[in-house]
Amino acid sequence: MRRVLTPFLVALSAVAVLFPAAIQAQTAGKSAALVAVPANAPYKDASLPAEKRVADLLSRMTLEEKATMLSGSGWMESAPIARLGIPAIKMADGPLGVRSWAGSSAITGIPGAPLKVLSTSFPAGVAMAATWDPELVRREGQAIAQEVKALGRDMILGPTVNINRVPLWGRNFEGYGEDPYLAARLGVAYIQGVQGEGVIPSVKHFDANNEEFERHRIDEQIDARTLHEIYLPAFKAAVEEGGAWTVMSAYNKVNGVHCAESKELLTDILKKEFGFKGFVISDWGSTYSTAGTVNAGMDLEMPGGAPMRAWYTLSETQTVGNGAGWLTADKVLAEVKAGHISEATLDDNAGRILRVIFLSGIFDHPHMGGGEVNTPAQAAVARQAATESIVLLKNSDSLLPLDAGKIHSIAVIGPNAAVARTGGGGSSLVQPKYAIAPLDGIRKLAGSSVEVKYALGVGMEGEDLAQDTAEARARLLKEAVDAAAHADVAVVVVGRYTKLEAEGFDVKTMDLPAGQDELIEAVEQANPHTIVVLNTGAPVTMTKWIDKTPALVDMWYGGQEAGAALASILFGDANPSGKLPVSLPKEWKDTPAYENYPGVNLKVNYAEGIYVGYRYYDTKNVEPLFPFGFGLSYTTFEYSNLRVIPLTETSGDHIGAKSTGVTLIVKNTGTRPGAEVVQLYIHDGHSKIDRPVHELKRFKRVELKPGEERLVLFHLDRADLSYWSPEKKDWVAEPGRFEVQAGASSRDIRLRAPLELKE
Ligand code: BGC
Repeated sequence: MRRVLTPFLVALSAVAVLFPAAIQAQTAGKSAALVAVPANAPYKDASLPAEKRVADLLSRMTLEEKATMLSGSGWMESAPIARLGIPAIKMADGPLGVRSWAGSSAITGIPGAPLKVLSTSFPAGVAMAATWDPELVRREGQAIAQEVKALGRDMILGPTVNINRVPLWGRNFEGYGEDPYLAARLGVAYIQGVQGEGVIPSVKHFDANNEEFERHRIDEQIDARTLHEIYLPAFKAAVEEGGAWTVMSAYNKVNGVHCAESKELLTDILKKEFGFKGFVISDWGSTYSTAGTVNAGMDLEMPGGAPMRAWYTLSETQTVGNGAGWLTADKVLAEVKAGHISEATLDDNAGRILRVIFLSGIFDHPHMGGGEVNTPAQAAVARQAATESIVLLKNSDSLLPLDAGKIHSIAVIGPNAAVARTGGGGSSLVQPKYAIAPLDGIRKLAGSSVEVKYALGVGMEGEDLAQDTAEARARLLKEAVDAAAHADVAVVVVGRYTKLEAEGFDVKTMDLPAGQDELIEAVEQANPHTIVVLNTGAPVTMTKWIDKTPALVDMWYGGQEAGAALASILFGDANPSGKLPVSLPKEWKDTPAYENYPGVNLKVNYAEGIYVGYRYYDTKNVEPLFPFGFGLSYTTFEYSNLRVIPLTETSGDHIGAKSTGVTLIVKNTGTRPGAEVVQLYIHDGHSKIDRPVHELKRFKRVELKPGEERLVLFHLDRADLSYWSPEKKDWVAEPGRFEVQAGASSRDIRLRAPLELKE
């Protein structure tokens, strides 16, 4: 309680100076009787600090009013209290743009849904992570927040900072990849962009929502070190650096306890250890008790009101394991009267929600809506993001970029070529006003001198049964082969779609959907100049064809602008600069959690521990198909002069307790302008406990003209050398010699330099 209540106590003592006895009695944990609120009540004064306003407002609230605040009033609205002018917080799903806020995913995902909201569709989280560009992610957050306000909402349910532990997680596309540091940087950037506009973000899903399989019942066994090193850092950074106003708890259990009821996670770690001052919101339908949930640290249960009750009566809601309706005012008050929930706890819950209402400005300046969405400026951010996110994985004989002046025909083939597959399925799927498919983008940039032919090649698995007969399949394949054979270049766009890769279930297999491997093989045979484009959010098996594939591009799910962005990369109008935020393994059986997924009897043991992603592949010498951090460019970069400069000591190549500088020079040695993502890894060769061979600690995206070079400067501190010690229950940096590695991927370390940590 110490740190949690401190701001309130400070605020309460300030209130005591301002207001005499009557109010002091109320603020000492007692709720106010219903008395009229003067027009000049301090909480209405926008010039006062939020803490003072919270304390004053709490002092005027009845117990019932406070209890009312703990559950939603609708599907996407918190409870307003009209008497005091407390507004409902009006939410909208994200994080990849603003999604319709009426009803569940199932309701809004279907055509003719009750409220259709057309807004800018940004690239999926994993694509944003492939940009390695926090400033761009900040601008994305800002653009989304502007749309939230324009639509009259207050809160966007994102970012998603869960770690991509397994290639089969249905929501891999939403997350920022496999590395906690990268996820932390991007999560913080998104939050800053959103909060900078006075819109409330929600960092989700706390904690370790890494599989959709039985997501309401699965019990994850995760040791403390793994939690602290892999699954908590992005949330810690969101709170400590991003100052996040809300955190959404996860559906799953961690170590036997549902996240919504985990005192260890919500109170001990989030509120006390990280110093979180905002409110915790439950994921939709994830509560199973009243006192247990409130006392664990939950502040707001969602959804609420009539929509929650109607939804909860559906048998499928309960069959999948949702729990709801536990924090309604009547239930909370009964527990208060029974002495199971204290009034101080209610003050803390309601106070946290009120603080965010004041801090965000929505109390003083409500978002009235009626503004413009999908403005050219917002679409431009989406376009830049889609372009920067594309990763060039293979480019034999410099097949790419295509020279529209030299080629006469392109065959564009595949189930993802003519349809814009902007994102994965579920609550993050945005309906844009328009979306550019790869075929549209290519047609536009190819110009009139290049003939662009299209062939489906194979139907998307499960999408259209008429394309799934043996005759239809043979005909479609033949059309594709003919088109490829008669074109200078073939572009095959393969991947999944919202019914195969989505929230709510995991991906069945790492293999591409039915018939797509065969399509690639056949097209490659027909045309040696074949470019394969991946349109998925998660790794896929490529072993059948990759050796024969001259060029491979990963476009992820790139939002509404993806087709145009892809074309600009293919034709060289843009130079690819994306880098993999996840390792792409050769096969599912090579992956670190292969033996421990999805779990047995609803228990999944995170036995690989801290060895997630490249931490596993690089330490255990398992070669991935494409490593973490990898991505090609149409130009080349040279790294030189890695130096470790102690800033806090007078001499030597060691660092003290504070900060050390690391510099290197990166030069564009090719003929095109381009951007390189310089990655800094730390290797600890002397620690007492097992550590990964290296870990990402810094990165920087540097744009360089041909021949240009730049000095890149990083600061490192003790925390960057530390591991989380289960004995000390704290971060430990062991004195001794570390190695700083500068690389273009986790497996392409170009420069190394020692770094000495003294006592
Ligand atoms: C998802 C959340 C989402 C919420 C509201 C849940 O099913 O897990 O990410 O924000 O629904 O739609």
